[in-house]
Amino acid sequence: MAVLITEECIDCNACETECPNNAIYAPGEPWSLNGEENEALSDERTYVVPEKCTECVGFYDEPQCIPACPTEAIIMDPDRVETKENLMARKEHLDEVGR
Ligand code: SF4
Repeated sequence: MAVLITEECIDCNACETECPNNAIYAPGEPWSLNGEENEALSDERTYVVPEKCTECVGFYDEPQCIPACPTEAIIMDPDRVETKENLMARKEHLDEVGR
């Protein structure tokens, strides 16, 4: 499961610096993976790239962005439930291709 940033977000970007996977981007900012740039997933608010979020698996016991958010705008995405094994595989993939 990746995390999701809701409309409670005030774009303070406090979460961005906490993410070990570089999975959080400012509104309108292109996201990158493996050296390739991709179109922003949101022009409205700070967003998380599900393909890069591991729920912090491989780094920390808990997602680091959730407590960093002053407006409690970050939640677990109920539409993206994943096993710990999947999340660890993603972390290892990111280790290889770059974040
Ligand atoms: Fe980044 Fe962890 Fe938040 Fe996912 S849960 S966006 S990996 S800080």
